[in-house]
Amino acid sequence: MGKTIAVFNQKGGVGKTTTNVNLSASIGQLDKKVLVLDMDPQGNTTSGYGIDKNLVENTIYEVIIDGVDIRDAIIKTEFENVDIVSSANELSGAEIELTNEKDREYKLKNSLLKIKDEYDYIFIDCPPSLGLLTINCLTAVDSVLIPIQCEYYALEGVSQLMSTFQLVKKRLNPNIEIQGVVLSMFDGRANLSIQVVEEVKKYFKGSVYGTLIPRNVRLAEAPSYGKPVIYYDSKCKGTSAYQELAEEFIQLEEDVI
Ligand code: ATP
Ligand code: MG
Repeated sequence: MGKTIAVFNQKGGVGKTTTNVNLSASIGQLDKKVLVLDMDPQGNTTSGYGIDKNLVENTIYEVIIDGVDIRDAIIKTEFENVDIVSSANELSGAEIELTNEKDREYKLKNSLLKIKDEYDYIFIDCPPSLGLLTINCLTAVDSVLIPIQCEYYALEGVSQLMSTFQLVKKRLNPNIEIQGVVLSMFDGRANLSIQVVEEVKKYFKGSVYGTLIPRNVRLAEAPSYGKPVIYYDSKCKGTSAYQELAEEFIQLEEDVI
């Protein structure tokens, strides 16, 4: 059965999209069938996969607002085992459009039901906010993957993130779990980064991945070429980190089963 995972942290710029794009691509290379869904109006996952959201006919917006079948919005990418559903500019207005809708928190969940089992993993990139789009993501998934940036304010906002998670678990999605916490933009030479790792591990106990994602300029460059980093520079540190994370992710999943 397919597993759905939201890459979630309401804090901006912590590495959600970078993790969403590169982890999904690396998992695809490990022979798993992956669907990537871009729920952020910024559309960085979509462009990171080389797709111009302005040219896409059916996006996630048409799916959750107009009731278009999600199958008609799935685009096959040129990258191994990865399909994508594009973001759209109109998505920023969707929060308001959904406000008075019945089942407004379940739009995404309902549209995913019919294709869930066609994939091994479905990764959803959340916007950096706690509005209805994010709530739709959290309601639709089995688990959340939380990227945390190794910087001074790393844990700021984490208690808010966790209270949103608990609220969703209580009211909307009782089975939601924490998939894992990914430490991003790690700088092994900086004491600060090392301290942040310790603090985050103390807070999240056993849920933190052993793989640390280093700060690596190739990770920042790859999106401008419309490619996940493994297809842009197969030998850089960012590539090996996300490949290692993909292996750790799958190992932990298969241990559970
Ligand atoms: P938003 O909240 O705006 O959606 P985000 O949490 O998705 O942001 P990203 O877009 O992944 O964060 O990352 C923010 C910026 O940092 C981007 O310019 C990205 O290229 C860069 N970045 C992310 N991870 C790394 C890394 N490990 N090394 C270097 N640069 C990185
Ligand atoms: Mg993002």
